[in-house]
Amino acid sequence: MPELAEVEVVRRNLEQWWIGRQAVDVCLIDGELVDDDDGDALVDVLQRPLRSARRRGKYLSCHFDGQVLVFHFRMTGKIICADCPNPDYARCSWHIPQMGWLVFKDQRRLGSLRRMSSDKFHNYAPLEAMGPEPEDVTVEDIRGACTGRRLLKTALLDQSIVAGVGNIAISELFWRLELAPDIKCGQLTETDWRHLIRELPSYFDEIIEASMSDEIDYIEEGAGDSPFQIYGRGGRNCPRCGSDIQKTRVGGRSSYYCESCQSSTR
Ligand SMILES: [Zn+2]
Repeated sequence: MPELAEVEVVRRNLEQWWIGRQAVDVCLIDGELVDDDDGDALVDVLQRPLRSARRRGKYLSCHFDGQVLVFHFRMTGKIICADCPNPDYARCSWHIPQMGWLVFKDQRRLGSLRRMSSDKFHNYAPLEAMGPEPEDVTVEDIRGACTGRRLLKTALLDQSIVAGVGNIAISELFWRLELAPDIKCGQLTETDWRHLIRELPSYFDEIIEASMSDEIDYIEEGAGDSPFQIYGRGGRNCPRCGSDIQKTRVGGRSSYYCESCQSSTR
């Protein structure tokens, strides 16, 4: 499932593939990907060079003169480079003569694409409501928003507190920090908060580094190999202590954890 790291990998790939180049054709394969009135509007970005590809949280935006394409990948969305416009699960494709086809591929078809003017993008509500990126968040930011009996997991999944954190990152971070999956915000010590702030950006940096490739394989697509230590590894051994990795549900979403290493008692 794309979280900050996977969206960042796509962004870096697009910098290589599209910046300074112009798409000459667009092929909308799945009309449900865009709003009703946006299908034809996708041609607006043709013949314009891509100026920049930016990421905010789990959103990716491609900036052309006066126009922006905003991608949200949700469960299985991604952009790949292909030699035809319609490989399996393609929903929309752009032809860039120097590269071939850049394909928005999305097996579960939950992702979205919005085309908007640059002016409208500046006030785009989902981005305006978003909290700081992991490298910018401070102990004060996070402690002010995460208090008492609220589950730390639920708080960190709230994009208005920290941008880009998802369910996979939670399992991995909690394992790194030796925090029980159902720990409450009020149970963390001062040291825990400092460690969390430090670990948030370094976790994402490491996963981005480990995930760089032309095509991300998501666990939801049945990918065998993953860069994660604990997520999706129920029943295997904890890489730190060798105990079994457990799977449970916390805050309505799956959590993987090691009973021996991770605790609520501080
Ligand atoms: Zn362990």
